[in-house]
Amino acid sequence: MKFSTDGIVLKASDVGDSDRVLTVLTKDYGVVRAFANGAKRLRSSKQSATQPLCYSHFTFFQNRDSFVVDDAQSIETFFRLRDSIENLSLAQYFCELECEYAPETEPAEDYLRLILNCLHMLVTGKKSRKFLKPLFELRILTLAGYMPDLGACAKCGEEPGDTAYFDISAGVVYCGKCPNPGVKISKGILNAMRRICTAPAEKLFSFELAEKSLDTLCGISERYLLMQARHPFKALDFYNKLFF
Ligand SMILES: [Zn+2]
Repeated sequence: MKFSTDGIVLKASDVGDSDRVLTVLTKDYGVVRAFANGAKRLRSSKQSATQPLCYSHFTFFQNRDSFVVDDAQSIETFFRLRDSIENLSLAQYFCELECEYAPETEPAEDYLRLILNCLHMLVTGKKSRKFLKPLFELRILTLAGYMPDLGACAKCGEEPGDTAYFDISAGVVYCGKCPNPGVKISKGILNAMRRICTAPAEKLFSFELAEKSLDTLCGISERYLLMQARHPFKALDFYNKLFF
């Protein structure tokens, strides 16, 4: 059976002299693992379309449980991500999170749109890494069903005022009046988190947050994600090491 869909290569591992195994996040079938025979041969037309981070139109051939790339035509290579080790590492972290959270064998258009939009913002410099990293983390957790409860105070039920507290292990917020174990966040940060989790995809990027608040948000969202995942991420460790 053959089927066609668009997808981005999350991972590519070489097998033998000329073959590759790809992990592709596709629009219609979620994460697909497929052999790309001959992909490494220099003149293969599949060569560039099967590189990591390349967004391509794929045709897969399915034989029982295994998939083979029948054809691949690149749509967007995001090649300029390679100009910056910081950008490239962050992109690889996004790929690692997609491998972790995106579904298999079912449509994953929201997951695909999230990574394509974030890579576009990253490569064009329209949004900073500090803006995109927590946005990606909180949004993919929300898509996967781990949205924090950012509504009223979890203790008294009141809307938090200018200062709120976010409980990283419980994923809830508290107001400033209730004693709580949370991390202090401004109203601006709380509103940004609410927007990231609930805004429609086309409005996801249209908010601003001061540099210092982005630092706080980065720390919170990373800790919240690691708390949910319960294991480290190789690309995240590498990315964080670049800034020490
Ligand atoms: Zn309260």
